[in-house]
Amino acid sequence: MNEGGSIADSSLVSVDEPPLCPPSVVAAPSVDANYSRSDLSFRSRLDAEKSGRWSEWKWQIRNRLRSVGALLECFPELRMSAEINEVVARYPMAITPYYASLIQRLDDLDPVFRMSIPQIQELRDPPFLKADPLEEDQDMPVPGLIHRYRDRALVMATTTCAMYCRHCTRKRVAGTRESTLSVPRIRLIHEYLTAHPEIKDVIISGGDPFTMETSALERILEAVRSVPSVELIRIGTRTPVVLPMRITPELTAMLRKYHPIWVNTHFNHPQELTPEASNACTALVDAGIPMGNQSVLLRGVNDDPEVMAQLCRGLLRMRVKPYYLFQCDLVRGVEHFRTPLAKGLEIMEYLRGRVSGLAIPTFVVDTPHGGGKVPLLPNYIVSMSPTHTVLRNYEGMMVQYPEPRYRHETEHAPIACAETPEGVWQIASGRQTAIIPMGGERAVRRARKSRVVSLK
Ligand code: SF4
Repeated sequence: MNEGGSIADSSLVSVDEPPLCPPSVVAAPSVDANYSRSDLSFRSRLDAEKSGRWSEWKWQIRNRLRSVGALLECFPELRMSAEINEVVARYPMAITPYYASLIQRLDDLDPVFRMSIPQIQELRDPPFLKADPLEEDQDMPVPGLIHRYRDRALVMATTTCAMYCRHCTRKRVAGTRESTLSVPRIRLIHEYLTAHPEIKDVIISGGDPFTMETSALERILEAVRSVPSVELIRIGTRTPVVLPMRITPELTAMLRKYHPIWVNTHFNHPQELTPEASNACTALVDAGIPMGNQSVLLRGVNDDPEVMAQLCRGLLRMRVKPYYLFQCDLVRGVEHFRTPLAKGLEIMEYLRGRVSGLAIPTFVVDTPHGGGKVPLLPNYIVSMSPTHTVLRNYEGMMVQYPEPRYRHETEHAPIACAETPEGVWQIASGRQTAIIPMGGERAVRRARKSRVVSLK
């Protein structure tokens, strides 16, 4: 993106400070028994906390692990092949000390490790993966603004993130050069929005807009809010997950001035639901900002129905609505994260009936060639006839839903089919109201209740 100022080249960066090792990490099996990793990291965190700096967001940004050397200095027991330097050269690495502190074991069985530590597989692309599969660059009428859906536009406010997710859809830009939108480009974006009053909803994204100085972000919000036709501003940020100390009173006070503002964040695993993350979400919600969560379905991270159920329940407890569950895009460098579409459907099937409907996200595929999001659902319609629709519930119960009467009267009467003892057709034709599997938890509960009633 551009000629504007950046976190990296601003006064936020101090070259004097050595990289900081994160706090206690459960040792990987290969750890040298004489080496006490958790002592070292615990001391480091204590030092940072003593000086009050651990909770400073700019200190966290300055002390991100940005190179293989810094990573090995903090995790000396980590075994990495020399090729990792190639990975980092192609796809930048940055991990805040806070996020590194959430790693519980040093291998890719750990979800936080897997999402943040570069892997050799990022260089092993099948030929059909693209740098920009959603063709965002082709829907960019002015630099830094994507206009795909008629009533929405997305502003790429910065290319900087606090942590570079290894599964990022915008790997082609995120972190390649840490920069933010310049004033002339903000002006161009303002002109475009003014000339397109059909755009009602503007998403400020990146990169991560909350890595910007509050005043720099405010310049963008001011410009967008001054367009009379813009109704809603949404901000996409992963800072509540990877840099929760960024949600300061100064930031929320600034955001309040530009309501209605919504924030969508990006939690992927219950291990990320920490007290710090919860405080960050609370601060945003208490500032009147509704929050949604956009998870990405990732192999080895959250491709497990129960993990996803725990995540969604935990998000609701933090007053964050699980909004989307994204199928991994066909992006270069992420093949090792992709799951079959069937996995997403299996998870959706599991969630329905087990967690509150409020906790269930919409499973979507962002289609290649910029086709936009397509929601996918398990099929709950078993059959449809002019008179009855047969629905299946999460337990496998099949039940009829009679169509409105006026439709019966204009259709032919159902063909009589004598001697059909049971089956979906019996419900579809109105001869039977439901097929209920016996022995399910609910059926047993009901049977127990009716026994109690008949005993009275
Ligand atoms: S925070 Fe968002 S834009 Fe940044 S690396 Fe992660 S997924 Fe990509």
